[in-house]
Amino acid sequence: MRRVKRKFIKINDVYVEITRIILALFLFTISMFLSKSMFQPRKTYSLVLNGNTSVDVSIKNDYTDAGFKFLENNKKIEANELKINVKNDVDTNNLGQYAYTYEVIYKNTTYTAKRIVNVVDNIPPVIKTDMQQVELFSCQKDGKLNIEYSAEDNYDGVITDKVKEKIDANKVILSVVDSSGNETTKEIPIVETEEPSPKISLNGREIVYVKQNETYIEEGAIAFDACENKIDDEVKIEGSVDTTKVGTYEIKYSVTSGTKTSVKTRTVIVYDGIINNPISPNRDKVVYLTFDDGPGRYTEELLDILKKYNVKATFFVTNQFKAYVPLIKREHDEGHSIAIHTLTHKWSVYDSVETYIKDFNDMNNIVEQYTGSKTNLFRFPGGSSNTISRGHSKGVVSAIANEMTKRGYVYFDWNVDSNDAAGANSSQIYSNVTTGISKRHESVVLMHDIKRSTIDVIEDIIVYGLNNGYTFDTLNVSSPTVHHHINN
Ligand SMILES: [Zn+2]
Repeated sequence: MRRVKRKFIKINDVYVEITRIILALFLFTISMFLSKSMFQPRKTYSLVLNGNTSVDVSIKNDYTDAGFKFLENNKKIEANELKINVKNDVDTNNLGQYAYTYEVIYKNTTYTAKRIVNVVDNIPPVIKTDMQQVELFSCQKDGKLNIEYSAEDNYDGVITDKVKEKIDANKVILSVVDSSGNETTKEIPIVETEEPSPKISLNGREIVYVKQNETYIEEGAIAFDACENKIDDEVKIEGSVDTTKVGTYEIKYSVTSGTKTSVKTRTVIVYDGIINNPISPNRDKVVYLTFDDGPGRYTEELLDILKKYNVKATFFVTNQFKAYVPLIKREHDEGHSIAIHTLTHKWSVYDSVETYIKDFNDMNNIVEQYTGSKTNLFRFPGGSSNTISRGHSKGVVSAIANEMTKRGYVYFDWNVDSNDAAGANSSQIYSNVTTGISKRHESVVLMHDIKRSTIDVIEDIIVYGLNNGYTFDTLNVSSPTVHHHINN
């Protein structure tokens, strides 16, 4: 019994044990399940930029963004699983702050990351010079250096005018700063050099003629040192002129800069008596511009140019181009000298002395009409040396010259021929005139205001004359007549 009972109990115990094991397994499974679902960490996503979130890029350089990573719990998700939008505002042609933005869509959620891109000018300007060394004269110590250079900046362009020059011991330092504050310096070694002589030039002429007992006016001299500084005040003038005594005097002008002295002298001639035309010594470098055959279509333009430079000329007028003849009044009113050339400019004026004088008088009446008075000045058509008149009347030019001179008229030929009537072009005219006047003390220049080529070059001729110390004057009865040899 007891054995049975015991056996039963034993069986019962096993049953209990099994049940407990099953229960324990069940609880374990539940707890495992619960713990798994409760303590499992949540998934995290992040959009991370490669590199810095704020970067600088040089102006005008290309900008390449460093990109991004998209992470799921620190594990990179490949780009092909993402939908990516890029917004790029960066303008590398203009300085400024820009955004480079990524927008990533993953599992219906949008993530964004923005990088700040600063377009900056961090490239310094460039100073260019061919000078390997600088010669420094004593006059340059405080003054402007004579250095040639240029400066250019990637952003500001040419900034040569912003370059600062500084002398430091044995070198010149050039420096320049661009608008973004980038600085460039360049050093050029200084070489001490012997200073060139100063330059001195006389005001007025090197030879001055003063009539006895008249006043000599000292015009002085101008001077520049080797650094082109004006040093007129340093000029010493030695010598004097006694205008009561006929003779030749020398005035010495000297100027010193550094160790060098430059000297010029002026000869003053005090003379007695009358100086004869045509070459009067105190009438050096005088130019009489004369214009024949007008007034014509270019005369007004010529008058405008003469007026611009306040240059006076002489017009040998005709009645050939009637619409322009009233311009004689303007010529006269603006201070030019009016002289007769001919009414018709036909060679038939040389048929006889009478035909010539009738033509002359008819033209002079027209001149009187526009100027209020007749003129005593004239020029033969073709000049007094013309030979065409031989075919009209033998000896007629000689006869006319005698008759006209007797009546108090003065004729003029020329000693400088522009050759415009013969078809010279403007540059030939310029050359003919400037060469011609440079060979003479006084020049009567033949030109024609009906020639386009002359009008085109007259301003250049005037400028040449004014720049080279010539005086332009008008002809009058006591001017040099410059007569040619009469051939008929
Ligand atoms: Zn003529």
